Amino acid sequence: MSANSNCRDLLNTISEYVDGALSEELCARLEAHMRECDNCRVVVNTLRKTVELYHACQDEELPGEVRERLFHTLHLDEFIQNERT
Ligand SMILES: [Zn+2]
Repeated sequence: MSANSNCRDLLNTISEYVDGALSEELCARLEAHMRECDNCRVVVNTLRKTVELYHACQDEELPGEVRERLFHTLHLDEFIQNERT
């Protein structure tokens, strides 16, 4: 499977996706990709569930620290290296 670079691009957008902050065009791309990629589908579903739980408990944005820990748990560090500040 050589879908890796594609996955990496899309995974960089999933935190915005689950926040509902992603543009329609990128949403459509991500959703189309998820139909063919079990890996990304699992990642997005897991992240979305976690974010929903978080929002249910605390009516706030997911802080960077929590997001980082979550991505680490999901073994996404390697995908978001460029996003670290
Ligand atoms: Zn993928």
